[in-house]
Amino acid sequence: MLIDEFDINEVIIENQKAINEVRNIIIENEHIYGKKPKFFLKTYGCQMNEHDSEKLYSMLRMAGFEETTSLEDADLVLYNTCTIRANAENKIYGNLGHLKAIKRNKKHMIIAICGCMMQREHAVERIKTTYKHVNIVFGTHNLHDFPNLLLKYLKEKKMVIDVWKKSKGIVEGIKVVRKKPHKAFINITYGCNNWCTYCIVPLTRGRERSRPKDSILKEVTMFLRQGVKEIILLGQNVNSYGNDFDYDYKFGDLLKDVASLDFDFRLNFMTPHPKDFSDDVIDAIRDYDKINKYVHLPVQAGSTKVLKKMNRSYTREEYVTLVDKLKAKIKDLSISTDIIIGFPSEEEEDVDMLIDLIKYVEYDTAFTFIYSVREGTPAEKFEQIPEDVKHKRFDRMLAALNEIVIRKNAEMKGKTVRVLVDSYSNGMLTGRSDCNRNVTFEGDESMVGTFKKVLITRPKKFSLSGTLVEE
Ligand code: SAM
Ligand code: SF4
Repeated sequence: MLIDEFDINEVIIENQKAINEVRNIIIENEHIYGKKPKFFLKTYGCQMNEHDSEKLYSMLRMAGFEETTSLEDADLVLYNTCTIRANAENKIYGNLGHLKAIKRNKKHMIIAICGCMMQREHAVERIKTTYKHVNIVFGTHNLHDFPNLLLKYLKEKKMVIDVWKKSKGIVEGIKVVRKKPHKAFINITYGCNNWCTYCIVPLTRGRERSRPKDSILKEVTMFLRQGVKEIILLGQNVNSYGNDFDYDYKFGDLLKDVASLDFDFRLNFMTPHPKDFSDDVIDAIRDYDKINKYVHLPVQAGSTKVLKKMNRSYTREEYVTLVDKLKAKIKDLSISTDIIIGFPSEEEEDVDMLIDLIKYVEYDTAFTFIYSVREGTPAEKFEQIPEDVKHKRFDRMLAALNEIVIRKNAEMKGKTVRVLVDSYSNGMLTGRSDCNRNVTFEGDESMVGTFKKVLITRPKKFSLSGTLVEE
């Protein structure tokens, strides 16, 4: 069990104090902005980052800033970065270059950059030397400290860089203003202990730490009381939750406890690791109505040879056995996955095996990636596959995958699904079904944030369209 190296209450008090001080400075300086100051917040990467950004968004709102979607209109620009693949990093450098020109005519603009990429020393070094117009740099472990860093910059007007090499504890209690008030992401673990050889996450997010169950249940209950309709439990490997506790309380227990809360909501989680998928988690998904019959089960590769090289800790056969068990126990289960193409040692026959696996599992959808070498990971030293070969293999895999996804969407015609409505535009509503498909249908704005039954009348290639079923 992790022992926090600081007093959480003190951190929250400090954080609030800094927010208040920033607000006072902002009010004093309103003549500089000529209006209420605005922030532009852009998030890259996974749902962890999205959730971190909700906290950053809340801190900025509390400090007196308003959000804008226009860079030109912004007085403060904050990039929450990702470093999972090289193109995610390149985008950031491109954006920072573009901002330099904007800042030339808007000297008071504050540029802040945080997130996974900032946990990489070479990235911080590059920003220090090449992007001197950046004002604040911080990492994933001290996100809660953003108001203090902003305050320091406002007072001293010098570049502030503060990146912690590792976590000093889990900060609970940062207020979160959710953009979608009906959906709440809840971190249950931070970091990862798996060391997949391609992956940078253990280096940027640190070792795995589980949040105590009481604080998770308290947070979930608070959100449900506020009317939240979907809870999404988040972690890099949710089903190793509790492995660091000195008492016996695991992910299956947490799932059951959350699903037993007496409110009208649905429960999702991401991401489970195939190697840790225990029977009690499968049984909980089957037995509890509130848990969606949907599992995201990253496979990454289709052959045991490549899986071993990736250090995924399961074989192709074990993965297939798990899928068989899930399908046998859970009726109408939807499965999605993550796939990496072009990982070192992959040959054409490994891609053939992956395509066979895709056809066997019949994934409802998948996130597909071309392998990107990450500095500091073991796979950096492996013999690499040429880019043109990776791209050809990727296209071959994607064609096979799309065939399945399109067919499975077509099979939804005539079925009725329950949708949690996310947004409204021009008479049309959009939301996600319990089976995690994007569904659009006609309706009015008052339906946003509610569950609706929808008859699927027009399946499209990668989404569904239907009509509202009157209840
Ligand atoms: N923890 C989750 C898991 O194990 O499935 C996902 C973490 S990661 C943020 C999301 C996905 O990015 C991974 O599942 C993998 O498919 C992909 N990914 C990670 N590192 C990559 C790399 N170096 N190149 C390409 N894709 C990568
Ligand atoms: Fe990365 Fe593997 Fe951990 Fe997922 S399980 S975050 S892919 S190291």
